[in-house]
Amino acid sequence: MVMKLFDAHCHLQDDALFPAIGSVLARAAAAGVERMACCGTRSKDWNRIFQLSESYPQIFPMIGTHPWFVKGRDGSPSRPDNAARPAVEPYQDIQTLENLLRAHPEAGIGETGLDFQERFTNRAEQEASFAAHLDLARELNRSVAVHCVHAWGRLIEILRAYPAPRVLLHAFGGPAELVPELVTLNCWFSFCGAVANPRAKRVRAAAVAVPEDRLLIETDSPDFAPANCAMPNEPANLIHVINALSELRGTTVDSMIRYTFSNAESVFGAI
Ligand SMILES: [Zn+2]
Repeated sequence: MVMKLFDAHCHLQDDALFPAIGSVLARAAAAGVERMACCGTRSKDWNRIFQLSESYPQIFPMIGTHPWFVKGRDGSPSRPDNAARPAVEPYQDIQTLENLLRAHPEAGIGETGLDFQERFTNRAEQEASFAAHLDLARELNRSVAVHCVHAWGRLIEILRAYPAPRVLLHAFGGPAELVPELVTLNCWFSFCGAVANPRAKRVRAAAVAVPEDRLLIETDSPDFAPANCAMPNEPANLIHVINALSELRGTTVDSMIRYTFSNAESVFGAI
């Protein structure tokens, strides 16, 4: 079996991984993880993302503002549970984002999206930020990494209004019935270690519904370590995701390794 894996979504810039990045990447390489898409979540991350991608060619850089870090209208942080954390960013940072993307034609856009869990009070601002990211993706022809929780109806409406060329719905948790329509909106779908959890019924149903040519795999490191893996999660754990997914979909690990890698190349480009 040729191990050649692509981690479609991770956060190597996170303080849980970045200080030991050399050994994190060595373990990833030993586990067959040849490429990784590394996603920024707020403007203070963005330089670190390029620092990583410029030092390590296997890292695909992505920059954007995660819905958790889009500032609310009153200027307060969007995360009341985390109000002490200072570095929330207004979506007005979109000009800085555009400038950096123009300076880095290799980069993708994300993480952006919508999170309508009750504790977030900035839905209108999240939607404006998401739309602005999608607009840039279309204009600059870039791939976009999207986080979506409890917002599937609005997600579809906004994707229709702001069509983007390549949208990766990361850690997909939407209903399986929406998959066909999302495919028509240029969406790909990636799954993390959550698929291994027998109680994650909705995620598992969706993982079966996604067409083979739209399926990707991710660790979402440093979060969501698969069962039996230590925290922080890291790209080297990607094989656990493949093992769980291939069992669920009734395909061989070998073929899934091949098609998820080439799907990731369709989204992020080949090197
Ligand atoms: Zn993420």
